[in-house]
Amino acid sequence: MPSMLYRSRKTTLLGRLTFGIVMASLLTILGQSALATELTTDEKALISAIQKRQPAALSLLEQSVRINSGTMNLPGVRAVGALYEKELTALGFACRWVEMPKTMGRAGHLIAERKGSRGKRILLIGHLDTVFEPDSPVVPWSRQGQQVFGQGVADMKGGNLVIIEALRALSAIGALDGAQIQVVFSGDEELVGEPIAVARAELIAAAKRSDVALAFEISVKNSQGQDTGTIGRRAAGGFVLEVAGEQGHSSTIFGKGGYGAVFEAARIIDSFRKQLIEPDLTFNPALILAGTEIEVAQTSGSAAGKDNVIPRTAVIKSDLRYLTAEQRERTQQKMREIVADHLPGTKASIQFDEAYPPMAPTAGNQALLALYSTASEQAGLGAVPALPPGQRGAGDVQFVAPYVDSLDGLGVNGAGSHSPDEVLDIPSIEKSTIRAALVIYRLSKVELK
Ligand SMILES: [Zn+2]
Repeated sequence: MPSMLYRSRKTTLLGRLTFGIVMASLLTILGQSALATELTTDEKALISAIQKRQPAALSLLEQSVRINSGTMNLPGVRAVGALYEKELTALGFACRWVEMPKTMGRAGHLIAERKGSRGKRILLIGHLDTVFEPDSPVVPWSRQGQQVFGQGVADMKGGNLVIIEALRALSAIGALDGAQIQVVFSGDEELVGEPIAVARAELIAAAKRSDVALAFEISVKNSQGQDTGTIGRRAAGGFVLEVAGEQGHSSTIFGKGGYGAVFEAARIIDSFRKQLIEPDLTFNPALILAGTEIEVAQTSGSAAGKDNVIPRTAVIKSDLRYLTAEQRERTQQKMREIVADHLPGTKASIQFDEAYPPMAPTAGNQALLALYSTASEQAGLGAVPALPPGQRGAGDVQFVAPYVDSLDGLGVNGAGSHSPDEVLDIPSIEKSTIRAALVIYRLSKVELK
């Protein structure tokens, strides 16, 4: 049961076994040094470098936020990329801009890399774009005390800043030399270009050259007010159900006329509801069209039918969300079986699609969170437990999660993403940067076996 994995410290046998798996994975990631109990001199130096930089870090954030980079504002997205490129180049990263095909209408992505041979190969993930296009009425930047309101301050220019400032601190103590780090800043996270396989090809390729991935989307607090880490995110996919009946006189329904497309569609959807509901799985039939004639567009359509005619066609469109590949396979298999169990005189077929693959809460992801949480505690910043996966929408980390141990939600604290009230808590920049720098430092020091 994957859903057991992210509930920590169970006292049940399963819980103890799970904890054992996590610790074993942690040791695989880190070796015995994972169990170090206090900060080293280098790590303390990292923290003070980060603390000293805070005023300058905030002005770098302001600079980035004042550049409008709505996904469709391609020059704006590129300008934010150029700003980060300058910073990363100064830290010894080789940077390149990846163009997307013109037909996709997206700005492209910034990729930065430091080659080395020491420790884990680390992938850091951010995005350059925001949901606020140039005509947005939202004020780009407005500071009120220890908060900043503005376009993409928390989602996720604050998170991007955490990446850059953590790397800057590592550079300041000489800890980047020999480390193997890639940074991918997507230019179209908020409105991904089509086809997605092309839009995310570079990110996936970077993941295949990495051992772990850290993503810096906004940090979410749990009900106890603790910062959390995201070790699982549900897939975003969907299905289209197409049903056919035999058109005929309504007086023959239930007999030689069969049951018609409407009853068959209703049978299938209701069987899904009765047989498939389980934790972490949802589906939402959102659009249904049925009758003797239908026209279906992306999110709308039209239908015609007469009371005295058995309907011959129906289409249902739905989303479908699941947490693991296993849950996907099992659910799709069961759905196909239900679909195939036709009422007399009907036929039906179902097609699935998947925009964002699932990020399953694996033992490896939990081990990464354990490492992060330990570092946070040692720095006096408190433990960081896992966020239940149902509480986040889809994100870029899901494209890399099938290939590497992954952790998301390591950005800044804030609220109101995508809204006029989007806000960032300024002190969280320092806190998240310290945690990120410590984790990158520890991962990059590990000797590969
Ligand atoms: Zn985001």
